Amino acid sequence: MKITELQKEKRPLLSFEIFPPKPDYPLETIYQTLEGLKDLAPDFISVTYGAGGGNRERTVEIASHVKKEYKIEALAHLTCRGHLREEIKEISRRLAEEGIENVLALRGDPPQEQPVVKSDFTYARELVEYLRDRESFCIGAAAYPEGHPETPDKRKELAYLKEKVEAGVDFLITQLAFDNRLIYDFLDRLAGVGINCPVFIGVMPVYNTRQIRRITALCGATIPPKLNALLEKYEDAPADAEQAGLDFAVEQIADLWAQNVDGIHLYTMNKARQTREILRRLKN
Ligand code: FAD
Repeated sequence: MKITELQKEKRPLLSFEIFPPKPDYPLETIYQTLEGLKDLAPDFISVTYGAGGGNRERTVEIASHVKKEYKIEALAHLTCRGHLREEIKEISRRLAEEGIENVLALRGDPPQEQPVVKSDFTYARELVEYLRDRESFCIGAAAYPEGHPETPDKRKELAYLKEKVEAGVDFLITQLAFDNRLIYDFLDRLAGVGINCPVFIGVMPVYNTRQIRRITALCGATIPPKLNALLEKYEDAPADAEQAGLDFAVEQIADLWAQNVDGIHLYTMNKARQTREILRRLKN
């Protein structure tokens, strides 16, 4: 089923993001994670696509497994940087053949420590245009509440985002952000420029201090003082850091829920136990 159809029936949608295991790990490891997630009944599960090669091959297979084995709607990520048109054609053909109806169209980042590979697409907008012309996918794209690092001018970034949406995007998923005020402000700015498609809010629970510092350094997300204080307090106490991170995520999601956002997209980091715990606490 297309995510836009799901969205007509329920609000907010709840979705999970998982990533394929590295090539030298068996596929079974992700299926064990999925066993732990399936009865939480997410509205869809998205499967990331490795920009640097390696685990690219596994996205179609895992997305197909999510849909066929678990009867949960799947969203396959697809990045265009480093791909020729013919390769994108082949991957989208395979996705359609597997019955995948939803694709998150992304640009991707240049692979680190690997030679630059020729690309036929420069921006995600071109991938959206390509997919829209050829296949009947429901197409999602990425959006950045705190801005994308390559476009410091926020007005320009919104204009590029609008172009991308108008090229045929059905919904947006946001980059992780910890401060809901920044997210609500971003939603207002989207509405202000006439971007009216559903926006699912990406939430990343913090499971350990080092990991989150690395991720936020890469994507530029602000760590609010309250979260920062917790991270500092529990720097050397991983179990306490995890509990504090879970509490913070529960509070953040409860507030998004109360604001009746279109959807909440949990970056699960393939952690089924912690994801279950978040949902259990939200229900209490
Ligand atoms: P684009 O929309 O193309 O934007 C990239 C940059 O170009 C932005 O700064 C934008 O403002 C600028 N830009 C756009 N159009 C123009 C123009 N006409 N002229 C000049 N500048 C322009 N990466 C992966 O490798 N695999 C994944 O599975 C994956 N999943 C993701 C899921 C989500 C929800 C998010 C938020 C990100 C994900 N990423 C993933 C990361 C993403 O690939 C990177 O953030 C990448 O740097 C940008 O991708 P994009 O699709 O937003 O690109």
